[in-house]
Amino acid sequence: MELFRLCAGCREPIAVERLESVPDARFCTECQSNSEATLDTRRYIDEGLAGSREDHKKMRGRQWSEMVQRSRGK
Ligand SMILES: [Zn+2]
Repeated sequence: MELFRLCAGCREPIAVERLESVPDARFCTECQSNSEATLDTRRYIDEGLAGSREDHKKMRGRQWSEMVQRSRGK
């Protein structure tokens, strides 16, 4: 049974309470509220487009973690 899931944005575990209220959440609350682009990403993933999806996700994840680190930093 999956007890936690890593955020597709910052790759930190998504809070259990969030997964209970939003079982298909791919982003933690922080990333979710940090950018409206999250919604587009979710739609993109949910449509299950083939091809560069994985690369896109990896690329995006890297950009995200940089953004998040910067916004958390100072
Ligand atoms: Zn996150």
